[in-house]
Order: sequence, then structure tokens, then C-alpha cells
Amino acid sequence: MTGTAPTGATERAELARLAFALGEKYADRSLGDEQAAEAQWQDLRRAGLPAISLPEEHGGAGDTADLCLVVERLAAGGYPAPKLTISTAVAGSIIARHGTADQRRRWLPGIASGELRFCFALTEPGAGSNSANLATRAERVGDGWRVSGEKTYISAVDSSDVMVLVARDVESGGLTLLALDLPDSRLALHRVDVHVPVAENQWTVFLDGVDVPGNAVIGETGRGMRAVFDGLNPERLVVAAQAVGIGRWCLNRATAYAGQRVVFDVPIGSHQAVAHPLAEAYVALEAAWALLGDAARLYGEGGQAGLESNVAKIAACDAGLKAADAALQSFGGSGFTGESMMFDRFAYLRLLRSVPVSREMALNHVATAGLGLPRSY
Ligand SMILES: Cc1cc2nc3c(=O)[nH]c(=O)nc-3n(C[C@H](O)[C@H](O)[C@H](O)COP(=O)(O)OP(=O)(O)OC[C@H]3O[C@@H](n4cnc5c(N)ncnc54)[C@H](O)[C@@H]3O)c2cc1C
Repeated sequence: MTGTAPTGATERAELARLAFALGEKYADRSLGDEQAAEAQWQDLRRAGLPAISLPEEHGGAGDTADLCLVVERLAAGGYPAPKLTISTAVAGSIIARHGTADQRRRWLPGIASGELRFCFALTEPGAGSNSANLATRAERVGDGWRVSGEKTYISAVDSSDVMVLVARDVESGGLTLLALDLPDSRLALHRVDVHVPVAENQWTVFLDGVDVPGNAVIGETGRGMRAVFDGLNPERLVVAAQAVGIGRWCLNRATAYAGQRVVFDVPIGSHQAVAHPLAEAYVALEAAWALLGDAARLYGEGGQAGLESNVAKIAACDAGLKAADAALQSFGGSGFTGESMMFDRFAYLRLLRSVPVSREMALNHVATAGLGLPRSY
């Protein structure tokens, strides 16, 4: 895949089939199963999928819509690949759009091959959803920077090679993005005990006067907000694609089950109380997929797609959760077994309602950017 953009319908169909098969291979495993997630990641690497949406000159191929297609098909096959989210969609997008020529050469080929894994440190205990309020400081010292602060819920710090961190530039008061090579013994890490089926660990990261070189800055010092959102918007799109894909997987499984499970002499799927919630979820998933396609194309053409990404994220995560809930209900008690994996997927979809951006904060953006209502946050 690397270096070859999937230009035609045939190539896209092949890409979709490949991704579906790599999802199907792990469909019976929990999304919290680290071995399954790692084995799938190696499959994705062999197939060149971490390269999708990155610039061709650095080993990339395809665009944001192709990335969303791959992510949706993996999830629809049965096993989404959250590892594509931070490295390819967030870090890859930020570096492609805001990195210097040196930084692009240094990191993008490694992201495209899957050799380099990135994590992204934005959230802070004191700021939460209010990222404009973050307190981690970057102070200029000689040619470099001294960074102090605390980040929390940062995924995969222990299994990443580079951490992109958002800090406040002490001089200008604006935000600055910095890259830190990992592992780094100067960072203190405390594991956060998160009870959801995710295959990555979450960490609180303490930085106490950590010096980084001047070339660690990505984009403009003190003017990093635009770069941050050039990473967060594709993250929303990829998360939306996961939600649609997992929702479709749940729906397909539930439909097959409801078509053959007989309780009162007929298959349960012939009762409208079972069929209608599944049909409603189908409609919601199709609508969300259409919104997502438009948003992904806009971002891929160089736009920011802030409003569109939030709209797609809300629609997709609502639709995915609706599908998983209807599917769970159709399965009766079997929905809670390891054999069906329904509750595992339901829990993951429920997580996506709260992170990486909460439904409320996404709606706040729609209310202000889409409707022009006054800002309260
Ligand atoms: C498994 C997991 C992985 C994560 N990975 C990462 C990562 O890799 N990197 C990273 O930086 N972060 C990560 N996060 C953090 C995640 O992005 C945040 O949890 C999320 O952005 C919300 O922040 P918070 O938890 O502080 O909630 P808060 O900001 O405290 O919000 C709590 C609730 O209040 C609501 N709320 C707050 N303000 C408003 C308002 N103005 N209007 C309406 N409602 C409001 C929110 O919507 C939410 O429902 C992760 C979290 C989890 C659970």
C-alpha cells in the first residue's frame, strides 16, 4: 500500500476487503486483549495500512476518506484498530500540516511504516475539556525548552516512541506543541485504572523541568491551537468511523441471531419490538456514514472541517451506541457472554460518547460554529 494512492473504485474496494478481513480475524477477541491488538497491528503494518492519508512523498498513500474507510471496515469486520488513531490520524496529520521539512522526513516515514508509534498528551487534571486552560508550561532556556506540568489519561505512553505534548508558552501565553522521544526516564508515570475494554494503558505523566531541544517544537511557538485541531479533527473522524463500523458489526451479528432464535414459535426478529430498534439503528448508521464521508473529504482537501467533524462524531457515536444497545437487547442473556462479545463492544462504544471529545463539548461546537449561538464555555 505504501506510496500508492488508492485512486480508483476497484482499488478502494480492494482496500475495503483487506481491512474487513483484518478485522474479522480478531472478531472473537475482546477489544481489551493486548495480544490481539498487537497481532492485528503487525498485520496492519504488513498491509501498509498505517500509511493511509499520509503524504506520498513520505511513504504515505490515499487520503482521509480512505483512512476512514479502512477504520470503518476493520471495525465492521469485528476488530477496530485504535492504534491507527493517534499515530496516523493525530500525529501524522499534525506533522504533515505543521512540521518542518526535517520533522516530516524524520517522523512521517516511520509513522507510515508503523515502525514509529506516537502518543498525544493534551488532557490535564485541572483543565479537562477546557484545553485552552491548560497549565503545563514550556519556558525557553537557551536554544531549547524546559517543560513542567501534569497530563492525565494519556494512552500508550508505555508503548510509544514519541509523545506530542501540548504546553503553554510562558512568553506569549499561547499553546505550543512539543515532541519528546520515549522512553524518557525524566518523566514520572502513574497508571490510571480505567475499566473499559481498550488494549492500551492510560497514564498520568508528570514533567518536572524536562529540557527538550529547540527542534522539538512542532509548528509555531505560542500559536499551536490550529495545529492541535488539525490533529483533533481527524481524530474525531476516525473515532466516528470506528463507531459506525462497530455498530454495523453489532447489527449484523444481532440480525443473524434474531433471524434464527426461536422463543415463541417464530424467530424473535419477526417481532417488531426486536426488529424496529435494529432497523432504526441501521438508518442512523447509514446517515452517520454519509455525514462522515463529507467531513473526511473536506478535511482531506486541506480544510479544517471542525464543524463537520463534530457533527459526524456525534452522529456516528450515537448511531453506534444505538446499534450496540439494540443488538445487546436482541441477544438476551447471550449478549453478556464472551462468546457474543456484545457487551465488550457496547462498553467501547459507550466510551466513545465521552472521549476523545465528549458529546456535550462537540454539541457546544455545533451550537456556536454551526448555529451562531453565543459561546458559554
Ligand atoms: C480511555 C481514555 C483514553 C484517553 N486518552 C487520551 C489521550 O491519549 N490523550 C489525551 O490528551 N487525553 C486522553 N483522554 C482524556 C479524554 O480526552 C478526556 O477524558 C475528555 O476530553 C474529557 O475530559 P475530562 O475527563 O477532564 O472531563 P471534564 O472536562 O471534567 O468533563 C466532565 C463532564 O462535564 C461535561 N462538561 C464540561 N464542560 C462542559 C460545558 N462547558 N458544557 C457542557 N458540558 C460540559 C463534559 O462533557 C463531561 O461530560 C482519554 C480518556 C480516556 C477515558
